Amino acid sequence: MFRGLLNCIIFIFCISNISAQNSYIPVLVNAPEKNWDEILSPVYDLNDIINIIYNEEEKSELLTEIPSGYPLHADINVNSHYGVRKHPVHQSMKFHKGTDLDGNFGDRVYATADGRVIVVGFEEALGNYIKVQHKYGFESIYGHLQSVSVKKGMFIKKNTLIGKVGATGIVTGPHLHYTIKKNGHYLDPFEFIYMNFDKKDLN
Ligand SMILES: [Zn+2]
Repeated sequence: MFRGLLNCIIFIFCISNISAQNSYIPVLVNAPEKNWDEILSPVYDLNDIINIIYNEEEKSELLTEIPSGYPLHADINVNSHYGVRKHPVHQSMKFHKGTDLDGNFGDRVYATADGRVIVVGFEEALGNYIKVQHKYGFESIYGHLQSVSVKKGMFIKKNTLIGKVGATGIVTGPHLHYTIKKNGHYLDPFEFIYMNFDKKDLN
């Protein structure tokens, strides 16, 4: 009788211990990524996004998932910034939804984050363009391409060669039009182009 009771108590102790361990381990393993998904996914204000990224301890590892760095393997050279400007062809004031990066015909264009190619198409305003969908609601768009080397539906890694600089669509010369969107809202790509946490002075 007493022995049976003792075995029963030991059994209950073991079971409760196992279940306690089981519920604890997955939370530990998934903590950083789960946290980003919850905090970053609903946000689309540029300042809020920048604050979240810069305050994140794991930011250097997670930057492969967020459009960051320069899509051309060249020194940063911005022709025309994001915002209201006089359109170089139409000559009227228009909102420029991206940044124009200086380039020559045939310069290689690279994806700025891991993601899935959701559009390969043509529009007058963008020429031949590619749209890539990333985690946390981010999208990146690469326009006026001479050629495209990815297909719709492909999953690609950051720094995958996706196409070459051209002058397709309504443009005055070859350059890369680069746009970043989040949750359907346009963002100024400028902050993201300079994001590189490998450099000590930015930590
Ligand atoms: Zn542009």
